[in-house]
Amino acid sequence: MDRLAAERQRMVQVQIEGRGLSDPRLLDAFRQVPRHLFVPRGSRDWAYDDRPLPIGFGQTISQPYIVALMTALAEIQDTERVLEIGTGSGYQAAILACMAAEIHTVEIIPELAGLAARRLARLGRANVHVHQSDGSVGWSPAAPYEVILVTAAAPSVPGPLLEQLADGGRMVIPVEHGDGYQMLTVVRRRGGKVSENAIAPVAFVPLRGRYGWQQA
Ligand code: SAH
Repeated sequence: MDRLAAERQRMVQVQIEGRGLSDPRLLDAFRQVPRHLFVPRGSRDWAYDDRPLPIGFGQTISQPYIVALMTALAEIQDTERVLEIGTGSGYQAAILACMAAEIHTVEIIPELAGLAARRLARLGRANVHVHQSDGSVGWSPAAPYEVILVTAAAPSVPGPLLEQLADGGRMVIPVEHGDGYQMLTVVRRRGGKVSENAIAPVAFVPLRGRYGWQQA
């Protein structure tokens, strides 16, 4: 096994399993996806560290545990369709592609969308569709989705995302609570009812666009 593959196995064992996430499908996805191919070339030696890393354009790839936690909270079934807002490096989308039937991921920065699409294609992830657009309004052409993951911090849960969540669906989203304090929140839709569950404080880059921070 090469050094990076060994580091990846250790990352799963220490940072993910070691913190109590045990779903075998989740662990398998993290063992498979080469995270070092989703960070800038000069950062590969840090790809399996327990922290976020810069990916250019003022954006970051999240800490591995946070990617795992959001994925676990979404309770993804392999027949389901997933919408991700904030493609960034494409790493979270690659993980989702191992666990769900079809992924739509939306990125507002054209260069990042292009780079992520090329990486995912090279890895043969044919069930991921990258769209360059303002994802704060969701991606209506493929709605509804059983799962929506938002990987940037929103001022509040965007209405269009709620509308695009299927009955029985789960949305995992960091919501701003003032002073840079964000709460990772699970939103569930059952019938006409919507429930919100606060999970843990987190630090994400801001969601831009129509239902995000327009100036950010
Ligand atoms: N999930 C990513 C990390 C996301 S960082 C990964 O696995 O690497 C947050 C990303 O959200 C950034 O790339 C940022 O450009 C993007 N973003 C911010 N506002 C957005 C919006 N309104 N629509 C789509 N993407 C947005």
